[in-house]
Amino acid sequence: MPSLQPTLVVAGARAVDGDPVDIVIAGETIAAIVPAGEAPADCDRIDAAGRLATPSFVEGHIHLDKTLLGLPFIPHIPGDTVALRIQAEKELRRTVALPVEERGGRLIEQITAFGTGSLRSHVDIDTEVGLKGLHSVLRLKERYWDLVDIQIVAFPQSGIMVDPGVADLLDAAIREGADLVGGLDPAGIDQDVTGHLDAIFAVAVKHGVGVDIHLHDSGPLGAFELRQIAARTRALGLEGKVAVSHAFALGQIDDFEFFRTAEALAGAKIAIMTNGPGPVAMPPVKRLQAAGVTVFAGSDNIRDAWSPYGDGDLLRRAQIIGYRQEFLADPDLAHAFAMVTDIPAAVLGVAHYGLAPGNRADIVLLDATSLPEAVASAPRGRTVLKRGRLVALEGTLSPRD
Ligand SMILES: [Zn+2]
Repeated sequence: MPSLQPTLVVAGARAVDGDPVDIVIAGETIAAIVPAGEAPADCDRIDAAGRLATPSFVEGHIHLDKTLLGLPFIPHIPGDTVALRIQAEKELRRTVALPVEERGGRLIEQITAFGTGSLRSHVDIDTEVGLKGLHSVLRLKERYWDLVDIQIVAFPQSGIMVDPGVADLLDAAIREGADLVGGLDPAGIDQDVTGHLDAIFAVAVKHGVGVDIHLHDSGPLGAFELRQIAARTRALGLEGKVAVSHAFALGQIDDFEFFRTAEALAGAKIAIMTNGPGPVAMPPVKRLQAAGVTVFAGSDNIRDAWSPYGDGDLLRRAQIIGYRQEFLADPDLAHAFAMVTDIPAAVLGVAHYGLAPGNRADIVLLDATSLPEAVASAPRGRTVLKRGRLVALEGTLSPRD
């Protein structure tokens, strides 16, 4: 049983409703949230100085194995299609000497200092890299267990039907520690929607794991694939365990297509991940929400072969999504905040999440007076706690044991 003896007090924080509070922590757990000044005085304290206390951010989609952080800046290799990007990445990957453990480790340290406490990382699985990337990320998961909880998706970045052997590798990846099975453009890359979905859903059912599919395929074709994914999800009883990342098609189709696709997604409890990308169409967040479809956020590519941009700051990600969706009113800005906190926490199944007694003491202190202001200003210099321990003080990572 965890001790209920207070070990740390975050004193004088601002709750999201504006009330000044003390957060009393016992070990890894929030023991109580009391009016400011009422916490016990005889334990360690962090002076929040009126800053806003929120739960840690939850990264819904990242690629710890892809990032080139730690290397000198590498110019982007041109190529606009998914197939060209896959090819460019493979060529680059063969030349990069710095191991995933180093690059991914840098990314973890960077994002945890921003306030990320849990994440879902996709990891490339193909016949060239095999399970090496998975093994590297499993080592990162172990090495950084005290900073971040890591969930791993076995991701067939080079396709399945066009890269024979990948289906077996996905199966092996789950046996060796991946938490979910991924997928990629069943039509656009594999040219075989049925074959691709058969392969990944077979792995999901066999191992009782969830699914998270990258879907870039556009327009009515992409919408058709979304409905196919929804139909399988329902037929196999996997409601609530399936996500589709990107799903650009949802922003490219007419009302008839949109509503029948959204209805299928809602019925199958399929969540959509968006990173609020550049000129491509984006799933319409509020329209989907109104149709009963959950939309959560992620950073996706950070300084890698797919994108020279990104730093993994989820507050800035919420801001980008807000910009692109024209979120201007306070409730909409607060919703953008939920897209990097409560919503992905529910999608990922993060246990004991949220600022309430009994939950894990995964806390971020932000120099803002409200959630809408936090999204609008994305203040730096954050103080971060994970499992009741100080991870970063005003933006600087604390030394680890
Ligand atoms: Zn991705």
